[in-house]
Amino acid sequence: MTYRKRSEKSLQLETWSSPEVQRYIQKDNSFGIIPVGSFEQHGPHAPLGTDTFICMEVSRRLARKLGGVALPPVWFGISDEHMDFAGTVTVAPDTLCNLITDIVVSLRAAGFNKILVLNGHGGNVPYLGSVKEKVRQRVGQDVFLSVISYWDKLSERGKMMLSSLEWGFHANEYETSLISCIFPSMVKKLRDIRNYPDLSSLNDQELNEKVFRDLIKGSNGVWGDPGRASIKKGRSFLGTIELSLNNYLAHELDSQNEDLAVKRVSKNW
Ligand SMILES: [Zn+2]
Repeated sequence: MTYRKRSEKSLQLETWSSPEVQRYIQKDNSFGIIPVGSFEQHGPHAPLGTDTFICMEVSRRLARKLGGVALPPVWFGISDEHMDFAGTVTVAPDTLCNLITDIVVSLRAAGFNKILVLNGHGGNVPYLGSVKEKVRQRVGQDVFLSVISYWDKLSERGKMMLSSLEWGFHANEYETSLISCIFPSMVKKLRDIRNYPDLSSLNDQELNEKVFRDLIKGSNGVWGDPGRASIKKGRSFLGTIELSLNNYLAHELDSQNEDLAVKRVSKNW
């Protein structure tokens, strides 16, 4: 199946009129992408909106490739582990999941039959599983709904570079490279902001949100080495992310399309 190419200005749903939406959903492959980010400290060098900006960029790229349209992002996520740093805003898991569910249900009511919730913040992951069930209870199953994080389809090495003891977990080289590529003017070139928390107290403790919060409290908020970031690396990482998701989604959307055509019921809940 070939998906329609859309012009740059039509990649964001908030720029459309209602009749334009109406015309769009009358064709077969209406595909809406909801970026979900966070509003949290990313060290002294990167903006509070880092996760959301990255997710918005990936969403736009997927919309362009797959003939979809991106929604404005859900700016606020679950960021309790960063509440010791000024500017962080966190919301309760139910607040986040109910908001996302309401957006999905609204898109479905408009006639969208394929919807992607693209998450960009690790702290949201444990809670997002409930979104599919909440949607199913309200609109049934005759919609393709995928809820994934932008790193889910990367190689194991890619995932490690984004988040691991070796590469760091937050505002590190990988993440700083991504945001540097998307918004170079928002990233400060600072020296000596490398930070790896002292893990001697970790022992056998699980690295959960509370432990994470304790480990970075009083530091500069970084976990990793953002000094190694570059725009060039960011461009390469973004390309890899886009490719991995594009391959996955093109396949899923195609098979779902056949499925929907046959019985209007999704197999992939
Ligand atoms: Zn982040």
